This record gives sequence, structure tokens and C-alpha cells, in this order.
Amino acid sequence: MTSHDSSSDPYGGPLDPFLDDPNDPSSLLEDLDPVEPLTEQDRREIAADLAELIEFELALTPHGIHGIVVDCGDCGEQHFFSWALMAANLRSLLGNGRTGVHEPAAEPSQDAFVTWDYARGFTDALARRSS
Ligand SMILES: [Zn+2]
Repeated sequence: MTSHDSSSDPYGGPLDPFLDDPNDPSSLLEDLDPVEPLTEQDRREIAADLAELIEFELALTPHGIHGIVVDCGDCGEQHFFSWALMAANLRSLLGNGRTGVHEPAAEPSQDAFVTWDYARGFTDALARRSS
């Protein structure tokens, strides 16, 4: 019986037999696109948008701006949202993660709608002027 103590293995730890396993199960998870529940960060961002939107409405309505226009990446058209409709969309996002954004606005008098960035620049300028 040779019973050598093997605790002084000169090659370090054991090799991982699955190190190069190509059947990584995580690769199967791509391209599944269910409506995912919002993350906490999503919710914070939408809530921040909603707060900003309310600022826009207060600042821009007196200047004849009635809402936001969005270049839609899905259908390639512009969508016009009154302040109320945009707020409703954001609130419904917070509620169930879906919106009806592709429904056309009733009265797209296009001059009365500005992009989100324009509205932000406008309110920033107003804030600077009054401070
Ligand atoms: Zn669209």
C-alpha cells in the first residue's frame, strides 16, 4: 500500500472540465421579446419625463405650443401629442408598459407642436431669463 499525501500538488488547482463548453444556455435567451416589466430605473426615467412634461406644458402653453411631436422609429411617421395625451401615455407606461402612441392626434396643427428637445431648450431659456 502506497499512501502518499497529495496535498503538495505542484500544478495548482484542478482544471475546469467545462471551461470551453460551447452550449452556454444564456445564448438561447436572445430574440425573445416579451413585454418586460419595467425596471426601477425605467420607472424613475418615465416619472422624470412626466415631471419635465408638466414643466413644458406650463412654460410653453402661453406661447401657443400645444404639445410634443415625436419622430417615430417604428412607423417612420411623426406623432403629435397634446400635453394631456403625452402625459396620459407616460402614465399608462407606468401602469402597464404599453401605450397607444401610433394613434394619430385629432387636430395636428403642426406649428403648435415641438420636439422634446426643443421644449427642453425653450424651458431652459425661460428659466435662465427669469432667474
Ligand atoms: Zn409610430
